Amino acid sequence: MTSGSFQLNGGWIEVIAGVMFSGKSEELIRRVRRSLIARKRVQVFKSHLDNRYSGVYTVGSHDGRTVEAVPVDSTEQIALRLDPMAQVIAVDEAQFLDIGIVALANSLANRGRRVILAGTDTDFRGEPFGPMPQLMCVAEVVDKLHAICVMCGAPATRNQRLIDGKPARYDSPQVMVGGAEAYEARCRNCHKILPAEESGTLPLF
Ligand code: ADP
Ligand code: ZN
Repeated sequence: MTSGSFQLNGGWIEVIAGVMFSGKSEELIRRVRRSLIARKRVQVFKSHLDNRYSGVYTVGSHDGRTVEAVPVDSTEQIALRLDPMAQVIAVDEAQFLDIGIVALANSLANRGRRVILAGTDTDFRGEPFGPMPQLMCVAEVVDKLHAICVMCGAPATRNQRLIDGKPARYDSPQVMVGGAEAYEARCRNCHKILPAEESGTLPLF
């Protein structure tokens, strides 16, 4: 196979799911770096909505390693910026994208590309986030990573949203703009959500 040619039936989809701080970006970058070592043509996209650790043009991880990424906020923008010669397409923060990413990932994989998508699979309530459930279903490979619960040290599977240091209410928006909130990795046991204002009822447990 000459460089730049594709194994037309060799595409697949990989999803790296898990809570914040579980190492999804690190894992995505590791796979991207290894693809570069294998001399693959690689393109990295990252949703606009997240620029916690570095500039929006870079896929950042907590340990400071970075790979250049194209900032996008819709599937259409990925489609418009796609390099037709790219063999590996990586997308970080896929939970913020529209459902169209599922069809695009499938179509790229059908055309021989390796598609790697990293994203938080659950929102601050512990409920499915954006297109992640569908992406996990159509993927050939799914890895679900865990962080460490900051309260008790158990494997963390929930994103704890804190507003002014207090757990967010259930009716708080799924995506907050402005960054007034903070997040912690927590286990199921230590994860807390305050009831929605309207109901005025306490959680069952
Ligand atoms: P993600 O993309 O899943 O948000 P990153 O790859 O950006 O995660 O960061 C993972 C790194 O975050 C870990 O290697 C570790 O150094 C750091 N970290 C900070 N808080 C935690 C935590 N509570 N549990 C695990 N890792 C944490
Ligand atoms: Zn815990």
